[in-house]
Amino acid sequence: MAVRGNVRLNAEQSLRTRRVTILGATGSIGASTLDMIRRGGDRFQVEAVSAHNNVAALAKIARDTKARYAAIGDAGAYKDLKEALAGTGTEAGGGPEALVEAALHPAEVVVAAISGAIGLKPTLAAVSRGATIALANKECLVCAGALFMRAAAAAKANVLPVDSEHNAVLQALTAGRREDVRRVILTASGGPFRTWTAEAMRGATPAQALQHPNWSMGAKISIDSATLMNKGLELIEAHHLFSLEPDKLDVLVHPQSVVHGMVEFRDGSVVAQLGVPDMRIPIGMCLLWPERMDWPAGRLDLAQIANLTFSLPDTDRFPALRLAREALAEGGSATTVLNAANEVAVAAFAGGKLSFPGIAALVGHTLDAARGRGMMKEPQNIEEALGVDHIARSLAHDLLPQIAAKAF
Ligand code: NDP
Ligand code: MG
Repeated sequence: MAVRGNVRLNAEQSLRTRRVTILGATGSIGASTLDMIRRGGDRFQVEAVSAHNNVAALAKIARDTKARYAAIGDAGAYKDLKEALAGTGTEAGGGPEALVEAALHPAEVVVAAISGAIGLKPTLAAVSRGATIALANKECLVCAGALFMRAAAAAKANVLPVDSEHNAVLQALTAGRREDVRRVILTASGGPFRTWTAEAMRGATPAQALQHPNWSMGAKISIDSATLMNKGLELIEAHHLFSLEPDKLDVLVHPQSVVHGMVEFRDGSVVAQLGVPDMRIPIGMCLLWPERMDWPAGRLDLAQIANLTFSLPDTDRFPALRLAREALAEGGSATTVLNAANEVAVAAFAGGKLSFPGIAALVGHTLDAARGRGMMKEPQNIEEALGVDHIARSLAHDLLPQIAAKAF
């Protein structure tokens, strides 16, 4: 069926049950989405779900939700999934094409919650049929943002950001006209190493990087939050989502994670969205937009919190944020390279092969190597963007031993 995911049609959708597909159903965003769907009762029906290789968790989700289709990205795990779903009425699929198949199933809302640029193709498949995209997978915008947003506009697919800062900005933007926006501010918790010296961060372990002070998230984004690369990726995400020039995008460190994003208008008014740091708030907002869902957990208690503080980020201690800003300003394929190198670097750090400061160092050196090879021109289509992503990953892998050997 044709679903044109603009706000008007979403309002029509509110008259009936919404079918929801969750790409990355077994992850942190997937779990929060499933919780909100359960609470929504008959307002939602799960159409398709996907995972990478976690067969047991995916099969349980498919059984519990009575999903029509379950896709496992790792083709080698397909047989196990098929067996686990035998007799349940859920069709099983395996391999990268099954992720695309899941996205093409006729759901009004597709929650894009696969981690990494690998989520780009299935998310674009959902975009191509005009579904409303509840977008968590920021890497797909960092890898190919201009192409992604163009595809969404062509298919009239509504892209609603799940990322809490962007969800906040989307809400704040409704307070005025786009031409009256002076700047947008994304807040950052500062991550677990906010108060650490550069010296101390040299010895930071993956376990320490995964201890986020306010949010409970998947491993990749937790490490990105520790380096502040996450905020850099979010600046790039905001640039594409809201068509804002880089000089209109700012970051403030706000350790309480209560104010998620702000919009400053030309008259000096600053409109912010606040909430407890729980991803179920922006997820619920995307699932039922423009209606609101009941909030099931503790409400925001500002008197209890008492103090909200803000400061500028320190890009000397957190150079990943500077690299992301530079890549955004450079344009072309620079953010594609940045994202690919960062995915390689984070995996190397998580695997004990790279120090914490080595993450930004590897990303910086990969960007330099890509510039040296003249790789930075604007990708003209998705295949070109994925080609740059592929080469940047191999450049990063090649540079890894020499960066890892240096005492950053
Ligand atoms: P998780 O690591 O918790 O979950 C990732 C999901 O993607 C899992 O379902 C995983 O399946 C699946 N997946 C991973 N690799 C592949 C692959 N190669 N092929 C197919 N599926 C794959 O991540 P999060 O839920 O934390 O994050 C998901 C996305 O949302 C990321 O882009 C992140 O930046 C973004 N986001 C997350 C927030 C959060 O609070 N967690 C906040 C804002 C944005 P399996 O379980 O089988 O490995
Ligand atoms: Mg965020």
